Amino acid sequence: MKRIRDVIVIGGGAAGMIAAWRAASLNADVLLLEKNKKLGIKILISGGGKCNITNGSDMQTMLQQFEKQESRFLKFAFHTFTNTQLLSLLHHHGVETYVRENGKVFPVSHNAKDVVDAFATLMVSTGVEIQCNSPVKKISKEQNYFTVETPTQTLLSQSVIIATGGLSYKKTGTTGDGYEWVKHFGHTIVPLRPALAPLYLTPVPSPHWQGTPIRDCTLYAVSKDGIVAQWNGDVLFTHFGISGPSALEVSKKVFIVMESGQQVSMHVDFFPELQHEQLERKLISDISGNTNKQITTFIGQYVPERIVEYVVSQAQIDSNTKLHQLKKEARKRLIHVLKSCFIGKVRDIPLDRGEVTAGGVALHEINPTTMESKLVKGLFLCGEILDIAGPVGGYNLQAAFSTGYVAGENAAKLFSSSL
Ligand SMILES: Cc1cc2nc3c(=O)[nH]c(=O)nc-3n(C[C@H](O)[C@H](O)[C@H](O)COP(=O)(O)OP(=O)(O)OC[C@H]3O[C@@H](n4cnc5c(N)ncnc54)[C@H](O)[C@@H]3O)c2cc1C
Repeated sequence: MKRIRDVIVIGGGAAGMIAAWRAASLNADVLLLEKNKKLGIKILISGGGKCNITNGSDMQTMLQQFEKQESRFLKFAFHTFTNTQLLSLLHHHGVETYVRENGKVFPVSHNAKDVVDAFATLMVSTGVEIQCNSPVKKISKEQNYFTVETPTQTLLSQSVIIATGGLSYKKTGTTGDGYEWVKHFGHTIVPLRPALAPLYLTPVPSPHWQGTPIRDCTLYAVSKDGIVAQWNGDVLFTHFGISGPSALEVSKKVFIVMESGQQVSMHVDFFPELQHEQLERKLISDISGNTNKQITTFIGQYVPERIVEYVVSQAQIDSNTKLHQLKKEARKRLIHVLKSCFIGKVRDIPLDRGEVTAGGVALHEINPTTMESKLVKGLFLCGEILDIAGPVGGYNLQAAFSTGYVAGENAAKLFSSSL
């Protein structure tokens, strides 16, 4: 008779690896299928290759970083497998970590591979059978068993955990296969959208600006209805537009506004901590005693050198102007530009460049305490395939690890009366 496994996990990313390990540690017979030739490719590129594994804040604070319905859904999983549990698991397997600004937790080695290796070791030590180079093509369920098909095998299992991730960074293996299977099982897919993605602008920023960061500014996204999103932090000019933490954080909201047919323009406030009047007083004070300085030299102390000419031209001031020649009206225009400098209209927000995919399997169709489908017994979903997209800061990996842990535990429990 053909072997029937307890659990087949599809996808060897953060969610799939922890699910496989957790199920096997509860004595389930587990097979993990990964389409790539190695495990955890997205972990390897996370945090610029350093992997911001989780966030060091308490779980309640972590939950508050997600949208309300995401947070409600994640509550059980986050309290069942916390950031502390994740870190102690990693510490036990030789991955020391430290906390950086905003609570971001990284391996001391700054090497994401250490995290993947730790999970590979955990899986092997609990007897998970790992098959890389195994792209799943089809899943079906007949009576009590799932049939999972790869190009070379037809496998049977009592339960299946789908952890195939989102639809961005397709080159890492996340080509959205899981969405099609779960649709087939009757699930709703909330429309997929980019999140934590760069913004492509028109006009395209001058090539001269590429790689230039604007530090500690406020980035505003403005539509005809006013400000639709804003974020304090750094902005980075790229080949096509802007990236950096602030651009990534506003991308999801901006995309939704653009979907409604509205245009969105991006503006930078170089002095977020000062009101207009305070900035005016500061400029007047800074100008006095420097009246022979050229306007461009003067502005260069506030904005990155490469964009000084642009800022001055936006204020309609001749770049050869000396400060003693600066009229009150010109100063007012300059203040206006420093508080709200137009840097371009959003032309596109590419889904493939999003660090996460917003949208996915509708949360109300999944049991948040088990990660089991409410429609198909024995079918579990975890990680980014779900309709969850958190902010930058280690929240998305924690969501993948926590939901994966719960899925693995409950897939194992489902068929084991001894637990
Ligand atoms: C550039 C970048 C940087 C990021 N940095 C961070 C960070 O520092 N901190 C953070 O918290 N989050 C970060 N994220 C987000 C985070 O990496 C993801 O949210 C998380 O990895 C999702 O885990 P997952 O297991 O659900 O999916 P994934 O890690 O994407 O894993 C899914 C796996 O399923 C496999 N698969 C897909 N289809 C099939 C199939 N048909 N058969 C077999 N296998 C299949 C894929 O090959 C893949 O290995 C980053 C994302 C990107 C793109």
